[in-house]
Amino acid sequence: MTLYGGMTLSGAASKRKKASSFEHEQATAARPALLLHWYDRHRRRLPWRPLAGERADPYSVWLSEIMLQQTGVKTVGPYFEKFLTRWPDVAALGRASLDDVLRMWAGLGYYSRARNLHACAVAVLRNHGGVFPDTEEGLRTLPGIGPYTAAAIAAIAFGRRTMPVDGNIERVVSRLFAVEEPLPQAKPLIQQLATTLLGPTRAGDMKSRAGDVQSGAGDVKSRAGDSAQALMDLGSSICTPKKPACALCPLNDDCAARIRGDQEAFPRKAPKKSGELRCGAAFVVTRGDELLVRTRPEKGLLGGMTEVPGSDWLAGHDDKAALKQAPLLKGVAGWRRKAGVVTHVFTHFPLELVVYTAKVATRTGAPEGMRWVPIATLRDEALPNVMRKAIAHGLGE
Ligand code: SF4
Repeated sequence: MTLYGGMTLSGAASKRKKASSFEHEQATAARPALLLHWYDRHRRRLPWRPLAGERADPYSVWLSEIMLQQTGVKTVGPYFEKFLTRWPDVAALGRASLDDVLRMWAGLGYYSRARNLHACAVAVLRNHGGVFPDTEEGLRTLPGIGPYTAAAIAAIAFGRRTMPVDGNIERVVSRLFAVEEPLPQAKPLIQQLATTLLGPTRAGDMKSRAGDVQSGAGDVKSRAGDSAQALMDLGSSICTPKKPACALCPLNDDCAARIRGDQEAFPRKAPKKSGELRCGAAFVVTRGDELLVRTRPEKGLLGGMTEVPGSDWLAGHDDKAALKQAPLLKGVAGWRRKAGVVTHVFTHFPLELVVYTAKVATRTGAPEGMRWVPIATLRDEALPNVMRKAIAHGLGE
């Protein structure tokens, strides 16, 4: 069939297809500049983030990135300020004792991060003259700095052209491109797609809409850190897990998931295997106004942290077996089992603790490997949250 101008129907369809693919390419090319333009107007104010145009401090970037692993911005804020006041630079932190660092960290959870934080500060001080390496490769040689953290520091603090991909960025990118592959297998693909949001490698490659906004956003290729932080902010404030505010999103024009209308279905996730419940006992023993505690082994879960004595954590509750692991103390005729259980959820498993209490005479010595600490100074101990809960339950708070 011939239409006007001698064009066939299939010719018109093919022309429309080409036009639409051209528009799509244009929209895709515009994304990096749109993102930066949005960031310049809406960036979050965060304690570790310098004002627009100011240089980021590598120590602040590193400290905040380590604290933000598995912990939210609101919780991290006061800890970040506390650390910065006490140890204003990496050299000061490198000279601090591990015990002091663990004490300051108490309450933030995932204590291996605090141990690595200290080890990293020591390594920067001893091996790098107190100055962080400025490349991803260099940063990855340091304790506790994995691929994500290295990329984040390299991009944010040193302007290296790399894209760190955190959970927020994963969500935005998987929606923008409607990535069908489930996590975690999709991670390499998402990393690759996220990198396209850094913009072109050569100046002058930006076209059309991108060109319109580029003057406000500055040079895309030199703002890798801002691109990454823009995506992080977008994921946390607009492209939220539930009910994303797509109307406010700078990338909504060609977001594949929004066009399909199933934004919340991304990122696709493989069915989760939740860890099996573990059960154990905690023994809260008081001597006047003191509490019996011990230090956990350096390696493993909650390594080096303070705890009240307890039993092994096993598949079910077994009171008899647990009581066999109670601390051997003179004058304890029997243990009082507190009503209820203390529950806590670790990354890989949930835990239930039964709490037993006892009071001993003022001169009772501590069993080997344990010590008495005044209850009034417990806040200075490196106590993980699960132990704070067990102690509070045992002391009847
Ligand atoms: S349009 Fe909606 S789903 Fe797509 S990236 Fe923006 S906020 Fe997320």
